[in-house]
Amino acid sequence: MTDTRPPRRWSKRSLSAQAMGKVDPITRAVVPPIHVATTFIRDPDNRYTSGFVYGRPDNETVREAEAVLAMWEEASSALLFGSGMAAATSVFLALAPGDHVVAPTVMYWALRNWLLEDATHWGLEIDLVDTSDLEALRAAVKPGRTKLVWVETPSNPLWTVTDLAGAAAVAHAAGARLAVDSTAATPVFTRPLALGADVVMHAATKALNGHSDVVAGALCFRADDAFAQRAARNRKMLGAVLGPFEAYLLMRGMRTLDLRVRAASATALDLAQRFANHPHVAEVLYPGLPSHPQHALAARQMQGGFGHMLSIRAKGGEASAVATAAGVELWKRATSLGGVESLIEHRASIEGPGTPCPPDLLRLSAGIEDPDDLHADLDRALRRAHGG
Ligand code: PLP
Repeated sequence: MTDTRPPRRWSKRSLSAQAMGKVDPITRAVVPPIHVATTFIRDPDNRYTSGFVYGRPDNETVREAEAVLAMWEEASSALLFGSGMAAATSVFLALAPGDHVVAPTVMYWALRNWLLEDATHWGLEIDLVDTSDLEALRAAVKPGRTKLVWVETPSNPLWTVTDLAGAAAVAHAAGARLAVDSTAATPVFTRPLALGADVVMHAATKALNGHSDVVAGALCFRADDAFAQRAARNRKMLGAVLGPFEAYLLMRGMRTLDLRVRAASATALDLAQRFANHPHVAEVLYPGLPSHPQHALAARQMQGGFGHMLSIRAKGGEASAVATAAGVELWKRATSLGGVESLIEHRASIEGPGTPCPPDLLRLSAGIEDPDDLHADLDRALRRAHGG
């Protein structure tokens, strides 16, 4: 097959818009076909020189989407999975029983629960620490025994920021790898591998796809080393693969990634600034606000925007937070994030008992609607919740 890919001199935005410029060699179609075959013809001498053997590990549509992701993250390779959780757990299952792991106290709650309740059965020793505090992280790693430091930045749902270059130095000094859940940052605003991380994970269900219609996950590796190969083997053997139709939709979503997340991030900053002075809002949590405790770090580490995620803490506690979420019309009251439609969620009630999320917190995922409409709708809901 002729390689019709453009040279790497184009920007990531350009390469992504054209899905790496892949053109169908038979029809010259600008959108490559979706490859659905589960099996492939062997060579007469019984080899598989095409590189495609069987549909579980081998699918061209999946590989094409992986190439776009690897380009975004400047990775030596990328792997797509059937969900963000499948991608994340494949990293931990690439470790060996007895290995020590450090992860954040505040992180995507389902993964934290899996680490504490399930990963320990695999023999992993898990310590949770505030990874935004590098001294605490340094004290938590066990040189020679810690094999993985997992961080999430900005982290769900308080949007604390972890210093990736600092965390990479701490992890590497202890002989561990650094893995980063960069879902909220998106590859547009943060380049974890360039800052020293070894693995980047995305819940591709979120901003990468961007249309709330695909569940997918991704891992991007700095080096195609034994660790990356173990994660790839986990995907192949445990079967946590992404289907070709989902890979196609994800690739279509990634064509507009740059435009969508820049628009949503500008809206998030605008809303954060406006609600910071709202009479019924106690606090706005957003790394783009100068009042955020790690704003200076975020400004250095995140380039071009602070992301589409923010949270507000309602004055009047849990009851007024829940009443506010009940009163919106344009915002959609739903879990998840990163779609073109803006979402609002009373986060503590989905995370359940033991959550570090304050009960008065509403998590907001800014979409691409008119920011004035989003402001007016939430302002009205806040005022109504307070009897206004
Ligand atoms: N990481 C983060 C930051 C998330 O928000 C989520 C899902 O909400 C995940 C991981 C898990 O992704 P998925 O739901 O695709 O398994």
